[in-house]
Amino acid sequence: MITKEEKILQTYFGYETFRPGQQETIDNILQTKNTLAVMPTGGGKSLCYQIPGLSLDGTAIIISPLISLMKDQVDALNSLGIPSTFINSSLSTAEQHERLRNLENRRYKFVYVAPERFDSASFVNAVKRIPLSLVAFDEAHCISQWGHDFRPSYRSIVPNLKQLSNIPVFMALTATATEEVISDIQSLLHIEKDCVINTGFERENLSFHIVKGKDKAIYIRSFLQEHKEESGIIYTATRKQADALYEQLTRREIAAAKYHAGLTEDERKHSQAAFIQDEKTVMIATNAFGMGIDKSNVRYVIHYAMPMTIESYYQEAGRAGRDGEPSDCILLFSPQDVQLQKFLIEQSQMDDEAKRAEYRKLQAMINYCHTHSCLTTFILDYFNDTAHTETCKRCSNCMNRQERSDITEEAQMILSCVKRMGERFGVGMTAKVLKGSNDKKINQFGLNKITTYGILSAYTEKELTEWIHFLVAEKFLDTEEGKFPTLKLNQESIDILKGRKKVWIYTAPIPTNGETDYHAE
Ligand code: ADP
Repeated sequence: MITKEEKILQTYFGYETFRPGQQETIDNILQTKNTLAVMPTGGGKSLCYQIPGLSLDGTAIIISPLISLMKDQVDALNSLGIPSTFINSSLSTAEQHERLRNLENRRYKFVYVAPERFDSASFVNAVKRIPLSLVAFDEAHCISQWGHDFRPSYRSIVPNLKQLSNIPVFMALTATATEEVISDIQSLLHIEKDCVINTGFERENLSFHIVKGKDKAIYIRSFLQEHKEESGIIYTATRKQADALYEQLTRREIAAAKYHAGLTEDERKHSQAAFIQDEKTVMIATNAFGMGIDKSNVRYVIHYAMPMTIESYYQEAGRAGRDGEPSDCILLFSPQDVQLQKFLIEQSQMDDEAKRAEYRKLQAMINYCHTHSCLTTFILDYFNDTAHTETCKRCSNCMNRQERSDITEEAQMILSCVKRMGERFGVGMTAKVLKGSNDKKINQFGLNKITTYGILSAYTEKELTEWIHFLVAEKFLDTEEGKFPTLKLNQESIDILKGRKKVWIYTAPIPTNGETDYHAE
């Protein structure tokens, strides 16, 4: 026998079966259990509140930071014959009043609002007076100060909402949530452990790639040459980078659009529309672009520079392939990217503790760029997603598994050098000592006297730097977070030093032309 909810799925939405996690989430809500649903982008989170909202009596309030998406969602519901609306600052005051009156008259099944709406007494009074089916927090990671997109207004409304006696159940939905964020949302909204429905993060149609040691502009031009017909996004770290790349590409008659906060609202709207309607195939943008963009046929997302955290990387890269078709997520790495992100952390208004947390996240991002392990697994592990067991077999590291070299001896030399340097220095200085550099600072600190000075002089400083980063990325060596992270030995380092553990890399260890290009596609 089919349930009432399955019937709604079929008759209203035209889908036969629920996707993973949807049924459980919906069942919880129907039993008025506060619930957090963590599902990947495109996983079908909207139906998780739309179906119980339809099944239950009363109005559902959906809180979303994405004003630009509200209209689309509401239009889609109305076109299915489901009375819905949004109330936000994009409307005239008269229109807002009109919708508020309709809300009080219980006309709507769904009302979308931004958190700031709860600052309005007339809205809160209207909400108090009507029967509600549920209150849902979309993009719920914005509630948490540990989230990469924290919005204080999201958090501050929660205590006020809890005062309202007519809210039967709260739900929270997000595609990105680390353990810290999950437990923060849980405690804020009183969500029991077994009411966290986490379907895992894996997007099986996405292939992750790291490209290093290449001229980025040349790489992009040749990539675009091969993907002329496809739609994609190139994220840059700064507006200046976006402008420069846009100039370069349009000069070559590539159909590119650009988007960043330095453009006027009109320019941004125009650019976005041209991209969404496939008039322009490539969008060159800063991270200002994307929240609330629902374009399903994005075949690739290239990061021109490394972002600050894995959370933002996965969210931005995840804008590829929402239609489920195979898509590529490519990160072009250069060491300067790290300097830029450090600069941004230093420049920020954060207090020391917050800065340290950012440095920790940045280090994870740096590790992602240097690991030789499966990139998908690396990301899923970062989010503590234990649903997966195998490597993905499609990322650039999995594809680069042909040649493996034992670098245990070199690793031992690096580790013992770290030890002899008193575990007081970072990657750069350690590489210089191993190389036997004549750098002034080396002499100043007397590091040219230690036994490991110049012990790996056959390699370039660049290669040695890369190897140290690799050891850190694989957790064979620790770093202390901060602006100048110092290297520290850990248990794994000791095991390697004592010969109890071997170290392999997936590339030839012999220097050829001095180029380090471990992860080239
Ligand atoms: P999310 O908010 O999790 O990114 P959406 O709610 O926008 O994802 O859903 C993504 C797409 O999947 C939408 O086009 C939606 O209609 C579709 N979808 C959702 N649930 C199902 C289902 N059970 N069967 C088939 N398609 C579904």
